[in-house]
Amino acid sequence: MKLDSHLHSFRSRDSTNMPKTIIHQAKKLEVDVAITDHNSIRAWKELSSLGQKAGVKVVFGEEILTFDEEKVSGDILGLFMNDFVKPGHYLEVIDSLREQDALIVVPHPFDFLRNNFSYLKQEFKKVDCIESFNSRCYADSFNSKAKAFALAHSIPQTGGSDAHFPDEIAKAFVEIPKANSLEDAHKLLKKGKGIVSGKRSSVMVHVKTFFAKKGFFKAKNF
Ligand SMILES: [Zn+2]
Repeated sequence: MKLDSHLHSFRSRDSTNMPKTIIHQAKKLEVDVAITDHNSIRAWKELSSLGQKAGVKVVFGEEILTFDEEKVSGDILGLFMNDFVKPGHYLEVIDSLREQDALIVVPHPFDFLRNNFSYLKQEFKKVDCIESFNSRCYADSFNSKAKAFALAHSIPQTGGSDAHFPDEIAKAFVEIPKANSLEDAHKLLKKGKGIVSGKRSSVMVHVKTFFAKKGFFKAKNF
């Protein structure tokens, strides 16, 4: 099973991916997908039913904004979730994800130009995986640092496109050779059996994101 473990739908303010488009692209590119909108689970149901019809597996996830006592402390990704987790103190977010037995992932951990989690070095024992490839990282070195950190501390790895637009879907993924179901995928990723590969997206995607946030693009189905 190949899983693009980080992607957004139009339920994230800065994405134009319609659920139908996500499933269409996933099927064409032969990947399963995790839906990880910013602080929202509103696309879960629609994606899940479209995925079921098309034979694309959909992992329920969320990219959750965290804080410490004073300021933003970056994003945490929950995968294999079954309920919404609201943004909050990073320790509370981690606890809430643990309570629902979700897979806790630190996305783009060394991309200081984006919302990277600032407590990775102190708290890595509390998380399950590190995203060692994110297609939206501005520099290869951000991904190579993530991979090196994961290897140095024996932390399992995931990878994802972080797609906000259709042509980014499946640019990165984690392959889980022995997984036939989402339950298998969850267990095997936690054990570090995922093999990550991917390509970086053009930096133009960030320009598009800037304009999408301002409402310049309309989401469209195809
Ligand atoms: Zn993201």
